[in-house]
Amino acid sequence: MEIGPSGAPKCSRCHGEIAEGEDVLNEYGEWNHVQCLLAHAHAAAGMPTERPAILCVRCLVGIVSLDELDMTASGPTHIHCRPIPTTAPS
Ligand SMILES: [Zn+2]
Ligand SMILES: [Zn+2]
Repeated sequence: MEIGPSGAPKCSRCHGEIAEGEDVLNEYGEWNHVQCLLAHAHAAAGMPTERPAILCVRCLVGIVSLDELDMTASGPTHIHCRPIPTTAPS
């Protein structure tokens, strides 16, 4: 993992420091901006040999839009694939 001068982790794709509050994903120990992963997913869309950068952990289909992305404890999912909590919060 790359660390910037201020001690913040760096995005492995754009090498920019990850600021507090930015949407990030930890992938194999490397931090990435979600935006950077999505940009990569879009770039890869025309290339069938490359898989999308973010795969839904539930249906294993690529997530290509922030509108579809939801983070859960087990990883990224589509919003519509997100597990429904079995116990309602009180
Ligand atoms: Zn980035
Ligand atoms: Zn899904």
